[in-house]
Amino acid sequence: MELAQQIIKGNRTALGQGITLLESTLPEHEQEAQTLLSACLPHSGSSIRIGITGVPGVGKSTFIEAFGKLLTSQGKKVAVLAIDPTSERTHGSILGDKSRMHELAADENAFIRPSPSSGTLGGVANKTRESIILCEAAGFEIILIETVGVGQSETTVSNLVDFFLLLMLAGAGDELQGIKRGIMELADALIITKADGDNQVKAKNAALAYKRALHLFPAMENGWIPQTGTCSALDKTGLDTIWELIVKHNSQMQANAYFTNNRKQQNNYWLHHIIKEELGNKKYQKLKENNTLKQAEESLKNGSSIYTILENL
Ligand code: GDP
Repeated sequence: MELAQQIIKGNRTALGQGITLLESTLPEHEQEAQTLLSACLPHSGSSIRIGITGVPGVGKSTFIEAFGKLLTSQGKKVAVLAIDPTSERTHGSILGDKSRMHELAADENAFIRPSPSSGTLGGVANKTRESIILCEAAGFEIILIETVGVGQSETTVSNLVDFFLLLMLAGAGDELQGIKRGIMELADALIITKADGDNQVKAKNAALAYKRALHLFPAMENGWIPQTGTCSALDKTGLDTIWELIVKHNSQMQANAYFTNNRKQQNNYWLHHIIKEELGNKKYQKLKENNTLKQAEESLKNGSSIYTILENL
């Protein structure tokens, strides 16, 4: 397939076209999308997938721009994808927007793609899951997935990534900023943004307070101890420390085999989630009982798209 060949060669225009094909809801595109996905799958997998979340205004896009530039300046290829949980309502996407990340958008080692703008959160997340495969096939080694911290979307993103970064503001009276404890429990690192100028001390103190709070949470099953810190995307401080943390986490997870197992579990999570969403719980339970889901997991592993699997159930 020509499009797949171009993507594997690292052609960014082809990558954009490929993702558009995956996102298409036209029935005539379905087979093509499936062929593309199967062709790209053997070339995927070797990246670090990082989820980045936080309330609006915390500095996500400024952070991604500065962090992305740091990585591309080291010769790494960085893709930015987004999951916008509000896109269903607004029919537009505010995240992963090129206009908010001019410098990174102009960088030839970067690829920026806004959130798919229609479908359920599960559906959107599944498209993002497939887009990750295409980005990896195109040689992108670091995939940043941005989402806004409004509830369900963080859980969704945490099921797509290897490392989950929670950005938070210092002070503002309420240290928890409406971010539920459950979200904090998902974080591999919790970073206080805008640690510059007069805000530096406040940011450091907030990081310390969170560090103490995180100690009270149960340990993560993978053995990782969530880290806290501060950064300024404006002054470009703290960014390299965050990258070091991610690298450390990655080698620790690779060493204890959690990395591969986690990715496998995540793929199966989406398979089950979408089957349930599309066919309803009753049918899902039936398929589970008669072992069909085990076969479906096998097909997924071998490169079938979840929607093709669904059709054949
Ligand atoms: P998002 O809504 O989470 O994507 O937040 P933005 O990246 O759009 O940033 C929100 C506001 O915070 C903007 O006015 C930024 O200029 C500002 N901001 C972002 N990062 C920093 C930072 O590191 N230091 C300071 N002082 N301001 C920042």
